[in-house]
Amino acid sequence: MTPPIRAVRVWGRLADPQGHRLTAPDEDEFTMAIAALEHLGDRSAPTLHGVGRLPEVFRWGLSGALGRSVALCEHPPGAEGWKAALTEVAGAASTPSIVFGVDGPGHLLDSPGPWPGFGAAAFALDLREDPGLRERLLAWVPNGAPTIEAAQAIVDALAQPPGGRPTLDLAGWAPSTAGPGGADPEPSRHLERWAQRAVSEGAYMPEARYREGIASHWRLAADRCPRCSTVTFPVRGWCRGCGAADDLVRFELPRSGGRVEAVTTIGKGGQPTEFDPLVEFGGAYDVALVELAPGLRATLMMTDSPPGTVRAGDRIGTVLRRLYPMDGQWRYGLKAVLPAAREAPGPAPDP
Ligand SMILES: [Zn+2]
Repeated sequence: MTPPIRAVRVWGRLADPQGHRLTAPDEDEFTMAIAALEHLGDRSAPTLHGVGRLPEVFRWGLSGALGRSVALCEHPPGAEGWKAALTEVAGAASTPSIVFGVDGPGHLLDSPGPWPGFGAAAFALDLREDPGLRERLLAWVPNGAPTIEAAQAIVDALAQPPGGRPTLDLAGWAPSTAGPGGADPEPSRHLERWAQRAVSEGAYMPEARYREGIASHWRLAADRCPRCSTVTFPVRGWCRGCGAADDLVRFELPRSGGRVEAVTTIGKGGQPTEFDPLVEFGGAYDVALVELAPGLRATLMMTDSPPGTVRAGDRIGTVLRRLYPMDGQWRYGLKAVLPAAREAPGPAPDP
């Protein structure tokens, strides 16, 4: 039996073409791709095929963000990239293959005018048993289409299999929120300009130390000590209970279900200076003290909900988002979201 082909699409909310409030200036190509890939859920493919202008963080951060070792095979943006990726995975040994693509405001400062949408799409598919399907996909994807528009064409092609075999799972395919090309780039461009010139007067975190902390700060990795059973989070290479450094057992705390113990709203001007660009763009924000597991707490910024919304006792989920720019690069970390505000899968595919 042919395994179902799964497709996931998420939309960013950096700039709302309808003029609605900007709720998530902390999303970009990387965070959207991670959201799509996590939603896809497949944890077996050793190679991920990426379509789009992928920022540098993809090259070193993909494995850390997904919590497993993956290789990245990059393809150009748009229809041409999808075609190259589909051609390559048709001969792949692994089952299924993972192909993802992003449109986003990357290179905003170089490109005038609207960008072609702001979202990510990911597919888990196996083309080996159906060579005709690959040919049909390549024929369906319109030449010159931007990445996410081309992804919709792939879904349209997959949705009409010859013989009517329903093999497409679209549970994670968020419905279209805006016409491609409708996003106003100016607020986002302003944020990028701000970020590039921002100089933090606050705590400086060297790049090397930031990357060392990724397991805990992106995946909630913790160590359990076999001698005294103490759990150390964030991981630090030794047990906070007895100091043992050997045989610690690495595991990940649950990414959702944490309970808010206390919350503070940071008003404009009250933030550490490295957060200036995001506050300038998005205004005040909440910071929550969250119990992730019994006795284990983390302080997390809230996102995707207006300040003052979250209450002590609320259960939250976590998403990877932009934190602040440093050394000319965006730094990332987990933020907390209320379940209702999470990027919910669409109830139905596009009509
Ligand atoms: Zn110990």
